[in-house]
Amino acid sequence: MGSPKPFADRIFVTRPLLPPLQDVIRRLREVWAAQWLTNGGAQLQLLEERLRAYLKTSELLLFNNGTTALMAGLRALELHDEVITTPFTFAATTHSLAWAGLCPVFCDIAPDTMCLDAQRIEPLITRRTSAILAVHVYGNLCDVRRIQAIAERHDLKVIYDAAHAFGCELDGRGVGAFGDITMYSFHATKLFHTAEGGALAFRDPALRARIALLRNFGIENENEVSLPGLNGKMNELQAALGLAVLDYVEDERRRRAAVFATYQEQLGGLDGLTTPTLPPEQRPSYQYFVVRIDPERFGKDRDEVYARLKQFNVYARKYFHPLVSEYACYRDLTTRNADHLPVARRVASQVLSLPCYGALGADRAQGIAEILRFIHEH
Ligand SMILES: *Cc1c(COP(=O)(O)O)cnc(C)c1O
Repeated sequence: MGSPKPFADRIFVTRPLLPPLQDVIRRLREVWAAQWLTNGGAQLQLLEERLRAYLKTSELLLFNNGTTALMAGLRALELHDEVITTPFTFAATTHSLAWAGLCPVFCDIAPDTMCLDAQRIEPLITRRTSAILAVHVYGNLCDVRRIQAIAERHDLKVIYDAAHAFGCELDGRGVGAFGDITMYSFHATKLFHTAEGGALAFRDPALRARIALLRNFGIENENEVSLPGLNGKMNELQAALGLAVLDYVEDERRRRAAVFATYQEQLGGLDGLTTPTLPPEQRPSYQYFVVRIDPERFGKDRDEVYARLKQFNVYARKYFHPLVSEYACYRDLTTRNADHLPVARRVASQVLSLPCYGALGADRAQGIAEILRFIHEH
């Protein structure tokens, strides 16, 4: 068999979900009629209500992006000193800790889920530890029950970064049901988006007033400002776009599920390449299709596969490489030491995120899988 042909156009790892423009324009007409562009307008209130239902959470507040949401969430819990977290994530997770004046303590990840390894948390707990910040990476859920038990034993708060886990459920419960606060990102590259946006979900209604204050400069009323809040408000244009996008999320999930199925079928048996597993008790987000390449068994390492895919116009991404613990700005942390993070180091050298979005279609997913098989054999 000859070499597969490169794709005519470049194929990127994702593409934003764009609803029909008419749907957005219809909502923008409402914004124009109301002459209200930000500060708790009608679009924002409606989107909050719809997302509370969709995400099965009693409390949800929208933000202008996921990072400010996380920063506000960390402040709302009044944490101090050290927070145990994963090095295998996007920069924003750890940077939020730094902005909140907290010290990240890196903990290794579990080899199967690639989330914080719950079995390695306890030895890192000291008198200075105030919380655990874990990430449902790629929409793989953390061991939420074990983390909860540890938090209760040591009186720690638990925050989840669910930027990849929109609509994920465990035994029918939304992921926001676990931990004290869960952050969602609605960046354009996420399954559901508002171009830029984010949210905090939580269960304790007592947190609501404090988070709302942190989102809006700490302004209590015309005469009082009670704390140094930030500007985390989602505006009406973002919320209007979100309402239009939300109508298409289920359809997008179905189309991504077909892409997942094609990849699984075509790549499942390839020696040295591991495909994602979707546990039956979890509702997946289909945020990323990430394979792991074992250089010994596959015959090529991840970087070579990445480079060769590019020659076929397939732009995969090395999510998440390098580890956050390897960033220059975290160089002084003792827990950034590589000996301490063997699984995270290995996983970061093996992961490759393949193009995965509804409009990709099963045919192109099949083409990408054929290219990967060709690279494996040649
Ligand atoms: C996208 C992302 C964020 C940041 O979200 P923004 O909305 O872009 O600020 C945080 N954590 C993870 C894991 C992400 O992928």
